[in-house]
Amino acid sequence: MLEVKGITVAYDDVPAVVEVSFTVGRGEIVTIIGANGAGKSTILRAVSCVLHPVKGEIWFDGVRIDGFSANQVVNLGISLVPEGRRIFGRLTVLDNLILGAYTNRDPVARRDALDRVFSLFPVLRERSTQRAATLSGGEQQMLAIARALMSRPRLLMLDEPSLGLMPMLTARILQTIGEINREGVTVLLVEQRVREALEIAHRGYILQTGRIIAAGTGAQLLQTDLVRKAYLGL
Ligand code: ATP
Repeated sequence: MLEVKGITVAYDDVPAVVEVSFTVGRGEIVTIIGANGAGKSTILRAVSCVLHPVKGEIWFDGVRIDGFSANQVVNLGISLVPEGRRIFGRLTVLDNLILGAYTNRDPVARRDALDRVFSLFPVLRERSTQRAATLSGGEQQMLAIARALMSRPRLLMLDEPSLGLMPMLTARILQTIGEINREGVTVLLVEQRVREALEIAHRGYILQTGRIIAAGTGAQLLQTDLVRKAYLGL
């Protein structure tokens, strides 16, 4: 479904990601793990066409997208839950969700999308008239995911959804990502919580200072010395 071929992405001529290649197959959860500053967010920004690679290609369902605008990419069915959530705190939960549906003009499809996110996150239905800023951190993350789902993406990308959350809430969020995937949405998950991410992912890639240094199934990577020593401290 997604094919990233040898992309190099730079900020002011300084490359943050170098010749990175990976794939995400339809129906998979793929995770990219790596430390702070490894380049994980940069990869997601490139796939969502907020940034354009200086080298390489990005293909989605047979269409080359690396020259597209961010809007075109959303229309194709790719949605990003950005790092730090970026919800609109002064707006209500419902208004945040409706904003997420801006590409989804059909009122019936919108209603369906809303029903679906409310059934995934019942707490959002209960709080739909509340200002988003009054939600807890975990609820805000749920809202950010729900908002991204309102455009009915085929590929959902999440940038460190566990950031700032207690372990129990992280587990809950990751469990819900599994549920979303089982309902048919392909997932690209970027995480610093290595064990948890590899446990829910079908496959993973390890990114170190802008380069992919290992790849495998979640279970395989959890067994490698590299992951055990460098990321799990075992
Ligand atoms: P984090 O978890 O801290 O977000 P990350 O793996 O997502 O880490 P990136 O945010 O992609 O990493 O950053 C990769 C590199 O690019 C880092 O060296 C970072 O300093 C640099 N970088 C990121 N954003 C910018 C920017 N807007 N301008 C200049 N350099 C940037």
